[in-house]
Amino acid sequence: MAKEQMTPMMTQYLKTKEEYEDCILFYRLGDFYEMFFDDAIKASKELEITLTGKDCGLSERAPMCGVPFHSASVYIAKLIEKGYKVAICEQVEDPKTAKGIVKREVIRVVTPGTVVDEELLDEKNNNYLAVIYSQRDKYGFAVSDISTGEIYTTEISGADEALNEIARYEPKEILLNSDAAEKLSAQVELRFHITPDECTDDFFENSEFEKNILQQFGKNSLSEIALDTKPYAVRAVGAMIAYLEHTQKTSLTYLNTINTYEVNQYMDIDVNTRRNLEITETMRDKVKRGSLLWVLDNTETSMGARLLKQWIEKPLINPIEINKRLYSVKELTENIMLRDDLSAVLSGTYDISRIISRISLGTVTPKDLIALKMTLLQLPELEYTLSNVKSPMLGDMRKNFDLLEDVCDLLERAINDEPPALLRDGNVIKEGFNEEIDNLRIAMRDGKKWLAALENEERESTGISKLKVGYNKVFGYYIEITKSAIKDVPDYYIRKQTLANCERYITPKLKEIENTILGASEKIVTLESYVFEQVRTSVSEEIERLKNAAHIIATTDVLLSLAQTAYKNNFTMPEISDNGKIEITDGRHPVVEKMSKNSMFVPNDTLLNNDDDRMIIITGPNMAGKSTYMRQVALITLMAQIGSFVPAKSAKIGIVDKIFTRVGASDDISSGQSTFMLEMTEVSHILKNATSKSLIILDEIGRGTSTFDGLSIAWAVVEYIQNKHKIGAKTLFATHYHELTELEEELDGVKNYRIAVKKRGDDITFLRKIVRGGADDSYGIEVAALAGVPKEVINGAKKILKKIENDEIVVEHTAKKHEDTTNQIGFGDSIANEIADELKNMDVTTYTPIEAMNKLYELANRAKEI
Ligand code: ADP
Ligand code: MG
Repeated sequence: MAKEQMTPMMTQYLKTKEEYEDCILFYRLGDFYEMFFDDAIKASKELEITLTGKDCGLSERAPMCGVPFHSASVYIAKLIEKGYKVAICEQVEDPKTAKGIVKREVIRVVTPGTVVDEELLDEKNNNYLAVIYSQRDKYGFAVSDISTGEIYTTEISGADEALNEIARYEPKEILLNSDAAEKLSAQVELRFHITPDECTDDFFENSEFEKNILQQFGKNSLSEIALDTKPYAVRAVGAMIAYLEHTQKTSLTYLNTINTYEVNQYMDIDVNTRRNLEITETMRDKVKRGSLLWVLDNTETSMGARLLKQWIEKPLINPIEINKRLYSVKELTENIMLRDDLSAVLSGTYDISRIISRISLGTVTPKDLIALKMTLLQLPELEYTLSNVKSPMLGDMRKNFDLLEDVCDLLERAINDEPPALLRDGNVIKEGFNEEIDNLRIAMRDGKKWLAALENEERESTGISKLKVGYNKVFGYYIEITKSAIKDVPDYYIRKQTLANCERYITPKLKEIENTILGASEKIVTLESYVFEQVRTSVSEEIERLKNAAHIIATTDVLLSLAQTAYKNNFTMPEISDNGKIEITDGRHPVVEKMSKNSMFVPNDTLLNNDDDRMIIITGPNMAGKSTYMRQVALITLMAQIGSFVPAKSAKIGIVDKIFTRVGASDDISSGQSTFMLEMTEVSHILKNATSKSLIILDEIGRGTSTFDGLSIAWAVVEYIQNKHKIGAKTLFATHYHELTELEEELDGVKNYRIAVKKRGDDITFLRKIVRGGADDSYGIEVAALAGVPKEVINGAKKILKKIENDEIVVEHTAKKHEDTTNQIGFGDSIANEIADELKNMDVTTYTPIEAMNKLYELANRAKEI
């Protein structure tokens, strides 16, 4: 581009844009934010707004589009949602007094992970930014939600673990140094639908990191925040502070607490397990309804909803901490009065966590401050309600209970109870708080009275009864007289405006009153924002105390929610230990149970330990309930470690360090990639990371490949996990390979179970009960009949099955002994051979009833030719 020909404005634009290349630049021009060149082309498409052009000094006009400044937040929200960053460039001097081109500066960069505006945030979810620094196989990990002021950091080894940690938070934005980008980008993009930022090495290079961190958190040494032994985390946190300052363009003093943790402080749940167990959203539709969170969330407040989600994201492994939560939940489940009182108090509170952040960032609105006051007004009642609690965790909250009366009093005196949405609309500061504002308001009110008096006076003196005093923005106050009365207008009236049927005049006296009124109202606006700012500053000095109140409200809400859930759903308190035993009596699946309101959910027992009952192999027909049962065991364990009651008559839960679930390829409804490859990658991840304290759920693994491959893999995997020298983890393994039931005899710690079905004639009934022993039959044909496949086809299938079964025994044995002889099937002729092959390789469970019918029909016809 020939820069020298550019208009001065365009030169300024391009210079600014150079600094914010990765953003869409909103360039303020009068009442609009304009976008140019590529930004304009992109934004006009994404926002569905018209693309025009602007002369920029070059032969071709610059592509341009724009949005009105007062409704910009809607458009910004849309762009952020689509993963863009928006740099907001404002006029920083008054255009009226500016010499030459108005000075402009980027005052804020809005990015998906650094949003603070209420309209852009989801109230029940944290909005996290993750910053990851890696070098060799070490990862420093920092996460922040600046809308609530939370920061977490840890160090991780290995890319897998890094991905798991990302999955824990589901950040909206990820910043990586180039090394981390190389290792994680592809995976991150695939799994989280966010495009990580890759050109950010600058943020990670700074010799001042330590100093900046100490300053941010007000500490003298890194050891005070447990970062002295975590050089990688220091890099990540340092880069995060730099990035936040870069986007917010202000120092973030309220982000003064950091939570440094070790990954093994919490239960480790990998990306796939989170998805498979549908912990916070369902696998298919990605919605909350149908997830564990959906069952557990009975919170009254958004702060509680977000904290509950955090508890679910980070299940505990320390029995003392878990019990602390459980005993409080217990106290609440046993006391309906206490629950009712607390829920009444909590329902009167607002999201003060986010209000606190807006107070610090200076974007708080008058309505926010009233919401804060309303919340603080609930504190005495909350203290009173908690006055008799006995459990330690609820008790802790009552200790040092701060009613924040001073802040409450200030807000009560300063801010009008029903303020307008925006400060500039006026009437924000309450009467009696600031004398000057009061006086100006009196002047305004008097001015209005004077106007009314003037109107009367003028009517009388002129004798024009229809004379009216009015106001418009262009001419100010005027006296309006209809055309018919114009003849009576006195000389000292000065004509201002002529309309179709009337004339408008001013008089010197009217002008005088106008000056008083307009002058006062202008002064009031300035003064009100000054006083508001003072109030904001005073409140912001009490941030720590306010944060504490927010914490108490959120924690109480989560405990109450868990109690409400337990009460409503008839859950029971689990007994926590670290002896490795999981003993569940009459356990239920919390979600399936809740979803199937009308039909009875059949409860089942579970026994797992580190000795004779380490590995449970479950066989049984399709649809019997294997998957449901295994997930139920995983979910009950997980719930217990969150501190929740569990769906069971009784449950003893030996704490597990990690939960793994792998669902076989054909049951895996996601993805379009090679499912078998994916399945094996995940199996490999489990085998490498599981410990003797882990809980593993394997649902039909080995399905994605040919029968014998699959069986061999499944067999070897069982042996490896069962081996105490290798892993020895507690495992539930559902399989359609009945051959695996032989392992009970061969290996210690392995027990066979099946889900009982009742067969009468051709009919089968699912009993949903888990019993000892392997299944004798897979009842595939009966299930097909149940699905409505026509009788004729079912009968055909039975005949074929008989024929195959007669020889199959031979096939299986040879297969196990010499795999390469599997082709020597002893059928009489080649058609039969073909059919047998086809049947053998057929994965019946993947067929829809129609497909199954067609296939059977075709096979039956061919069989007739034998
Ligand atoms: P499998 O994995 O053996 O094919 P699933 O676990 O998918 O079977 O269960 C099939 C269906 O049976 C589920 O959709 C569920 O509605 C129902 N089901 C499973 N377990 C139970 C139970 N214990 N009580 C009632 N219904 C159940
Ligand atoms: Mg299943």
